[in-house]
Parts: sequence; C-alpha cells; structure tokens
Amino acid sequence: MKIIIQKFGGTSMADENGRSFVLEKIKKAKTMFDGVVVVVSAMGRMNSPYATDTLLSLLKDNKDSLSKREIDLLMGTGEIISAVVLSGELQKIGIAAEAYSGGRAGIITDNNYTGAEVLSVDATILRQALENGITPIVAGFQGRSLEGELATLGRGGSDLSAALLGEALEAEKVEIYTDVDGIMTTDPKLCAEAVTLEGISYNEVFQMADSGAKVIHKKAVEVARRAGIPLIIKNTFSSHAGTAITEYRYLNQIAKSRPITAVACRSERLQCRIEGRLDDTAFFEELAEKGVSIDIINVFPDLRAFTIDQEKKAIAEELLRKYQADYTLIENCTKITLIGEGMTGVPGVMARIITALSQKGILILQTADSLSTIACLIASQDTAKAVEALHQAFALNYSNLGGGGTLLL
Ligand code: ADP
Ligand code: ASP
Ligand code: MG
Repeated sequence: MKIIIQKFGGTSMADENGRSFVLEKIKKAKTMFDGVVVVVSAMGRMNSPYATDTLLSLLKDNKDSLSKREIDLLMGTGEIISAVVLSGELQKIGIAAEAYSGGRAGIITDNNYTGAEVLSVDATILRQALENGITPIVAGFQGRSLEGELATLGRGGSDLSAALLGEALEAEKVEIYTDVDGIMTTDPKLCAEAVTLEGISYNEVFQMADSGAKVIHKKAVEVARRAGIPLIIKNTFSSHAGTAITEYRYLNQIAKSRPITAVACRSERLQCRIEGRLDDTAFFEELAEKGVSIDIINVFPDLRAFTIDQEKKAIAEELLRKYQADYTLIENCTKITLIGEGMTGVPGVMARIITALSQKGILILQTADSLSTIACLIASQDTAKAVEALHQAFALNYSNLGGGGTLLL
C-alpha cells in the first residue's frame, strides 16, 4: 500500500477558508496514493480561540499550581478539536474520514508530561482504517503515556507525530504543510531577501531547527532520516513544489558547492563571563544538575565565557555567587548560526563572517563551530542587520539555483 502522511500546521487549520485549501491537498493526495494519513496541529496561533498558546493563557497565573499532567490535558485538546472539525469537513465532501487522538493512533510515550518521549508507535489501528478506505485524521503533538493519560511531545511536536507515523506505516513520504513555500535561507520574518530552497539535507535542517529555526521540529527530521523517508515542506496556500529534505548525497552539485545553506537565530541568550580562577568541574557539574544547559563555551586559564537561556539567569547567578566568581552577565544576546554541509574543509568562511559583521559595526561576543555550523553571539538588537549582512555575504538569495533533491519529489 502506497501511503503518504500530510501534516497541516496551525495557520493552515486556523479557519474555514484555510481548511478549504487543506481539503484540496488531501483530495489530490488521495488520487495519487492508496492511503493518506493526515496529522493536524491546533487551530491558529496565539489569540485564535483553540490555539495552544491561547489554551495555556486560560491558566493565567495558576500554571504553577497544576501538575504537568493536567497542563497536557488542556494543551492536547487543541489538536483534538482540530482533528474532529477536519474529519467532519472531509465527510461533508464525501471523503470517509475519522478523527483519532495521538494515543488512539498508537503513539505511546513515557510519563514525562509536556515533553514526553515517544517509546513506541503501533500503527495497527491506522492501517486497519486505511484498509477500510478511511482517511485517518490524527491529533498531532500528543501520545498516550504509560499510565494511560494524554501526554504532549514538546512545542511544535505535530511534525514529530507525522514523522513517527510515517516511519510506523512505512510511508513513501511525509509532507509538512505550513504558511511558507518551504525551508528558506533564513526566517522570512527576519530578512525580506530569504528564498525558498529546493533541496536541503536532513543534517542541515536538523542543525537549523537545533539553532532556533521554528519551521520544523528537530526530532521529526531525526525520525525521517532514520526511517529513510523524504520530508517535504510545502505551503498549504500555494502550489509551489516546496523543499525536499533528503540525504546530502542526493543534492545536486550546485547545492553541494554552497558553503552556507541557511542562517538561523536563537534569541534570549545570556552570556556569562567569569574572570580569574574557578573550580570548573564542581561549578559546571552543579550548573548541569540544576538543569541549566550551556550553549557556547570557551575556557581559557583566566577566563570562561558561556551562554545560557536568559530564563535561567536566577539559577546561574545564585551559583556564581556561591562559588564567589568574578562574573559579568551580558543579557539580551542572540546566537546566529550559519549552517552548511558544504563548509567542511572550505577555508575563509569564518573570515567572511567576521568581515560581514564588522563592516556593519556588529560586535561578535563569542563564536563556536562544528563540522557544518558556525555560530556567533551578538546583541539581540543587531539581529536583523546581522542576518541581512550574512545573507548578502554568502549570496544566499541565489541559493535556490542549487536545490536538487527533486529526484524524490
Ligand atoms: P506551523 O504552524 O505550520 O507548524 P510554524 O510557525 O511552526 O508553522 O513554522 C513556520 C514558520 O517558521 C514560518 O512562518 C517562518 O516564519 C518560520 N521560519 C523560521 N525559519 C524559517 C526558515 N528557515 N524557513 C522557513 N520558515 C522559517
Ligand atoms: N500546537 C502545538 C504547538 O503550538 C504543536 C504544533 O503546532 O506542532 O506547539
Ligand atoms: Mg510548527
């Protein structure tokens, strides 16, 4: 059975007009595949009545008095509403459909509510539905915990639901429908020159998601890669071919020759600098025990610089005082990451970054690099200027010339 998974995000599901485009995409997929499984997010974004953030805002200041299990019960309803409404709309146009909660669709998680890990996926019920000619509409972002309760998979988790069901059903591909044409060279909300990439590797998109690009959940990329299923990012509201996410080797030569593929940003970073001596092992171990994860770190004999999430400031500061550290905190920083598998072994990439930023008078507070990423910490107020400068320095607005991956579309 040739199966496709189609996942529709919040903006696609927001209102009846948006969902009329969703219905068209499903109808078309039904003519091309033996089975279509649909995964949906909650309708709309903040202020839409059933969006996840709106549901959470109902709790006002009472969030801390509720258990995470109860918070999940609330958050999970957004996707359930979406699934039932879409199922009704499909049936109205003569398509046999049925709505399922994530748990009923076979996604089993641990009991770590609000950020549950998926332990297994049993797609038997969905397979039966498909064999009976039914199009299942699955509530994304959720599964059933070991103790039988609704558990959510972490924000943006509907993408993960789609990839997991794709793996369990051995789907031909997983399509992620959203409000942009595909994976772009950077967030179009930050840089008007961003362009849509034809193709990109799993690793590059994973790095983008890990570096703050909200367009897809990083675990969804991991699952699709492990299952060898192409992920296609598409626009619900256009007929653009979208971006194919595949193995790097499937990209064409032009794509492989670009040193940088995309730029991603993570804001609300706090840089901490400690001068003089410190019991490093004890300090960093205690920081980790308190749940503070370190982003970029550089250690010199008389200086350490590291960045953490701004919201962990109080915990870090308490510890810094305990260790009598001579420290300075720099708030409101943003980490800008340049991503590209093609940068490996290419000399001069860092020099181009430094030139591009310094020409605009942007101070680099810290850097970090890996095989396929280079990150710079800057003041958040410089973010848009920096993204634009880097976009231009690497001619990213021409990147779509080298998409590739179309083989799999
Ligand atoms: P959905 O509700 O469909 O899941 P998301 O808001 O999670 O949508 O993701 C889509 C958004 O991701 C876009 O509107 C865009 O602003 C943002 N985004 C961030 N970085 C990128 C990027 N590199 N390419 C495309 N979109 C991006
Ligand atoms: N509705 C959930 C969220 O806003 C899950 C998702 O959209 O993927 O995080
Ligand atoms: Mg999303």
